[in-house]
Amino acid sequence: MAGKPAACPDCKFSPVADIIYGEVKPTNAMVQRMHKGEIVLGGCFVIDGAPTWRCSQCGKEEEKAGPI
Ligand SMILES: [Zn+2]
Repeated sequence: MAGKPAACPDCKFSPVADIIYGEVKPTNAMVQRMHKGEIVLGGCFVIDGAPTWRCSQCGKEEEKAGPI
């Protein structure tokens, strides 16, 4: 799994948000990080090959290599 860039490769927005998967009850600290665009919730189901980060400004997500 590739690392998350420090800034969005498209719009240069920083920080790029980590996508948190799973059944998460956000704590106050997490909600604050969500408001800052540092994390987003990805939902309960972890899909194989799902992106691990998303730009909270332009919505760009991690680009996975296509099927070989
Ligand atoms: Zn962006």
